[in-house]
Amino acid sequence: MPRLGVIGWPVAHSRSPSMFEAAFAACGMDDWSYQRLPLPPELFDETVRALGAGGFVGANVTIPHKRAALAIADRAGDAARAIGAANTLTFGADGTIEAQNTDAPGLIAALGRLTGMPAHPSALVLGAGGSARAVVWGLLNAGAATVSVWNRTPARATRLARELGARAVSSPVQAEVLVNCTSVGLQRSASDAEALNQLGLTADQVGGYAYVVDLVYRGGPTRPTPLLAAARRHDVTTVDGLEVLVAQGALSFEYWTGKPAPLEAMRRGAGLQKHAR
Ligand code: NAP
Repeated sequence: MPRLGVIGWPVAHSRSPSMFEAAFAACGMDDWSYQRLPLPPELFDETVRALGAGGFVGANVTIPHKRAALAIADRAGDAARAIGAANTLTFGADGTIEAQNTDAPGLIAALGRLTGMPAHPSALVLGAGGSARAVVWGLLNAGAATVSVWNRTPARATRLARELGARAVSSPVQAEVLVNCTSVGLQRSASDAEALNQLGLTADQVGGYAYVVDLVYRGGPTRPTPLLAAARRHDVTTVDGLEVLVAQGALSFEYWTGKPAPLEAMRRGAGLQKHAR
């Protein structure tokens, strides 16, 4: 019975098990299973090295283990090496471990499915943590015309931009695509205006972007983050964080199984309904 899982600490909140179980059902892969693997950092290396022998074909990796996932691998894809982090591990029959990063190509795939998305958009990325690094690399690698990076702690934006070839900005600038890679919106704020203020934005400024992506998710399109709620009020095309989760999961599925991912089943499994905007 081929096994898969998601490694994190904590990982109880993860939507990946229901998303992958929906994929297995849609593809008739009745003997496959996917489980949560809660793993504190001090147990990461020894546990991950034992997973292959335990019947695991692969594992997704989330906070705080993405750097460790790259470090433990015998081989890594270009994106994982350039970003310095991996979210997908594959365990070979010979005991070797391969690392990939599907966060960056997943976001690009989700953007590519939007109607009218320019081939070389200008982009503003909010944040300078792990996911911002993947998003900035992904946008540049996909041919974005410009990628600006704003962060609450400016020195981190400057460093990230210098390392990846983007441009750090001291306040949010207008662009065609806005991607929130901060954790603002995860917790409830006093008000939506307060949450936007933490991102250096007003609701009216959000209306100036053509596409707004929020990596943070709260439970799908019916429970938007303050950023996505403001964007929708201005009729801006939005991408919910769950769509990005599905997109990266679909690429992991394809690595492990060699089959095309059943996207609609995975979207339903993750808790997304069909949603036009
Ligand atoms: P991280 O490495 O911890 O980075 C957090 C970022 O948020 C930093 O830039 C930090 O700024 C900023 N931040 C935190 N609190 C803030 C506040 N009150 N005001 C302004 N900025 C604030 O986290 P990460 O791994 O990049 O993840 C960021 C978010 O993306 C998380 O909510 C995560 O769940 C989500 N995510 C979603 C997906 C998906 O598939 N949908 C994938 C990856 C991540 P400072 O540098 O100033 O601290």
